[in-house]
Amino acid sequence: MHSLFLSKNCLISLSVSLISLMAASTLIIYDDINITAIPQSTYQIVIVALFFIDAIAAIFMFTQYICNKNNHHILILGFAFLSGLIYFAETMVIIQKPLTVCTTVESKSNDIAIFYLFRQLSFISLLLTALFSYAQRNKKEKYSKSFFLLLSLVPLFIFPALSHNLSSYNPEMAINITYYHSGLKSQMWVMGYVYLLLGLWSLSLCLIIYKTNLHDDMWRSITVLCLSGFCCNLLLVALLRYDLSIWYICRMLEAISKMCVITTLMYGIFHTLNNISEKAFRDPLTAIHNRRFFFSEFDRFLAEWNFTPYCAMIVDIDRFKRINDKYGHADGDRTIVTVARIIADTLRSEDLFARIGGEEFGILLHNINKETAKNIAERIRANVEEKTRTGGFYDLPEQMTICIGVYFSTPTKQSSSEVMHLADTALYKAKKAGRNKVIACE
Ligand code: GH3
Ligand code: MG
Ligand code: MG
Repeated sequence: MHSLFLSKNCLISLSVSLISLMAASTLIIYDDINITAIPQSTYQIVIVALFFIDAIAAIFMFTQYICNKNNHHILILGFAFLSGLIYFAETMVIIQKPLTVCTTVESKSNDIAIFYLFRQLSFISLLLTALFSYAQRNKKEKYSKSFFLLLSLVPLFIFPALSHNLSSYNPEMAINITYYHSGLKSQMWVMGYVYLLLGLWSLSLCLIIYKTNLHDDMWRSITVLCLSGFCCNLLLVALLRYDLSIWYICRMLEAISKMCVITTLMYGIFHTLNNISEKAFRDPLTAIHNRRFFFSEFDRFLAEWNFTPYCAMIVDIDRFKRINDKYGHADGDRTIVTVARIIADTLRSEDLFARIGGEEFGILLHNINKETAKNIAERIRANVEEKTRTGGFYDLPEQMTICIGVYFSTPTKQSSSEVMHLADTALYKAKKAGRNKVIACE
């Protein structure tokens, strides 16, 4: 739920920033500076940066796939990012090429545009293949993994080979995606290609929303990526020319949206890790912390050795066995959960509270004086007695009481188990004294 909230917010804020970036971009256009004015070194740096962003995203996807081989769509999404690397490498080579009679500034711009076009075509094709694979993961009759792998080969290898042959490397087949407009003194895109990309990005966006309902964090971040792809091409249509500011804005949008995908992947990993450690330290019945967590936190507190007084308590439900025997285990469980909730409600959020045995709980209050600690213990005892009254809110089969053994100290060389043993001795005295009692020692 928390993750859903977080990622929805993340998606909304990213979409808003993409749109505002686009709006802002229309105000900062340098009219007379065209693509050829981008310094080669800047060009190289940005392309290298994007190369590594794609590489990191692909590595993340492949690692995720290795950990769960049922998610074929993750593997294909990894291919989508991997495909970008080939085009970035081609672009880097083109930028490096010295200018000659055959390699003019215009032909270089055209080649870069070809690789840019095919990079998007490869990405969109692999994205749609991944979506296709994702959409049928729960279906009975589904295509095999090899079918999707075979399908992925086309945009992964054939498209880059095709783009290479359609560029100035093969003058007989070369196509023109950009041309020099002498009137505007600018390099222009042939609009048909831009419209094609706009159509494909919008199709991907609609299909992702339709097929996934954006239930998955990953698909939400991919939606941001599609939105940024759409925005970049929209800028080309709106401004007609491929000038310096558009170039920078498009690369920035691309980097931001890809970072969003990487962030989502990393968030997923840490979220899963957190869930696992939470489960390892939680008691499944009461959902409060368990014995392992209690003693490890207690030891950590003692190790800090800060001389602040503390108080450890053991709480044990009185004559609990009879509840199991008379009403059954389910009512016994409900009683344990109820007592745990009443105690938790009485404590502060910073207090350490855990189920350390069947119907036994451990409490650690730090930085507390004796009087306050005794009052808290007494309040816990009274609250359990009061709130478990038959016919009350919790509707327990019988009213319950508890005994609390309380031990005060300042951190010394005692271990947590020695401290809890002393608290247990106090608890034993409380049981002996007739139950429903708080007994303190130090
Ligand atoms: P006393 O007042 O001396 O504490 O008497 P008691 O009956 O509560 O005795 P004791 O503390 O030894 O009882 C512990 C009982 O708790 C024994 C066991 O059957 C029961 N128990 C332990 N874990 C669970 C659990 O998870 N669910 C249920 N329903 N019962 C449990
Ligand atoms: Mg007990
Ligand atoms: Mg008991």
